Amino acid sequence: MRNNIEIFETTKNKPSAAYNGYQYRKFRSNLENIITGLCISEKSKKCKGLLKTKGNCVVSEIPHSCKPDDAEIGVRKHVANIRRRVYETDESVSKIYQEEMSPHFQWG
Ligand SMILES: [Zn+2]
Repeated sequence: MRNNIEIFETTKNKPSAAYNGYQYRKFRSNLENIITGLCISEKSKKCKGLLKTKGNCVVSEIPHSCKPDDAEIGVRKHVANIRRRVYETDESVSKIYQEEMSPHFQWG
């Protein structure tokens, strides 16, 4: 199975990415549009995990010392998106739930 990068927004409106069971926060992007993401456990667990992406491709990766948590990422992502849309729009909650199954945020 091929792993895809999933982009979403956190409750603080910061772009984040999920890849391979890990969650990253956007750290910076350079002139070639390569975006560097740091593991969200960087501070709490002193993880050195890092992901560099261009478009939807991973260009390089530094392995994690923390453990992946797919379930937690999925929940956090959907809760964040749904909460924001319910708050900002008049769309029905069930419609929002459906659409959130296919993430469409860009993190560039
Ligand atoms: Zn990590």
